[in-house]
Amino acid sequence: MKANEWISSVPVYEPGKPIEEVARELGFADAAEIIKVASNENELGPSPKAVEAMGAAAGEMHRYPDGGGFYLKQKLANKLGVKPGNLILGNGSNELIEFLGHVFLQPGANLVMSECAFVVYRLVAALFNAEAIVAPMKNFTHDLDAMLAAVTPETRMIVVCNPNNPTGTLNRPEEIEAFLEKLPDPVLAVFDEAYFELVPDEAKADILKHIRADRENIIVLRTFSKAYGLAGLRLGYGIAHEKLITLLNHARQPFNVNAMALAAARAALDDHEHIERTRDMVFQGLELFAEKLSLLGVEFLPSFANFILVKTGHGRAVFSELQKRKVIVRPMDGYGLPDWIRITIGTPEQNEAVLLALKEVL
Ligand SMILES: *Cc1c(COP(=O)(O)O)cnc(C)c1O
Repeated sequence: MKANEWISSVPVYEPGKPIEEVARELGFADAAEIIKVASNENELGPSPKAVEAMGAAAGEMHRYPDGGGFYLKQKLANKLGVKPGNLILGNGSNELIEFLGHVFLQPGANLVMSECAFVVYRLVAALFNAEAIVAPMKNFTHDLDAMLAAVTPETRMIVVCNPNNPTGTLNRPEEIEAFLEKLPDPVLAVFDEAYFELVPDEAKADILKHIRADRENIIVLRTFSKAYGLAGLRLGYGIAHEKLITLLNHARQPFNVNAMALAAARAALDDHEHIERTRDMVFQGLELFAEKLSLLGVEFLPSFANFILVKTGHGRAVFSELQKRKVIVRPMDGYGLPDWIRITIGTPEQNEAVLLALKEVL
């Protein structure tokens, strides 16, 4: 066998243990007692309308899905004020990141990203044996000027996670507009907006207006995994000029998105109440964490998403201690932040329990 030489240097994603296993190892009677706030999932669960739609769709699972995602794209297009031809669906937005790799990356090419940005971009660069150029952050926020300054003639993409995971920080609409004015035409700007629905309206940059105005070197990535509470179904979408969508479709398998996900997403888009409840839960939770952490004298970053980055000192040790108290958070050493943990905002009861456990541990 002769494998590609670079494949072994692509880091393998280490999945966390199922919480049933954690419960068994730590001797807890019931895994349901564990509060898992490690993956930025929606602790309200999926929209009840989506659950109902999945039940109705279950009897049709002997059929292949609609490989074009016709009805979902139509619905999304109406909602977003774009054409169905401006949309591509992915098996999670992660799959769309991989499509971008197929279309734009190769040995010798690079992408520019920010320090402490969503790690998948680094992995996809490695997968295509391309380089990830990492620009420094400013106050834990993407420094867009530093990123532009890092662009080389071989740069194919520049990635802005807004808000960013794991820092929760946001680039303001004015900053984004200035960035787009300076962005060189040959470079594609990727705006990863996984938490878009949770951003306060006045802080939202309007990237779609540039796509409606036919700008070609921009793509916006969004997902049903976070605010919509459908992470298990794996569904994300990209919004871009039709020319770019056409290129990306060359990298897509015919049935990359499953039929259950298509059915659930269409119903979830109609459930405005569920999104509103989710937003309220997150905004209130962020306030609670800010208040309580300040009282404890613990440093944290103000967040625009459904999680908060907290400086506890020795994140791995704090993670283990919290786990003994039935709380699972995410240590951040993998992001070069060994003194920090990331906590997903949950229900009010979960938040109180997490804060109590954290107080004990610290
Ligand atoms: C969670 C997350 C994603 C979402 O991935 P899916 O594959 O859609 O579940 C993408 N980007 C960022 C920054 C995220 O935090």
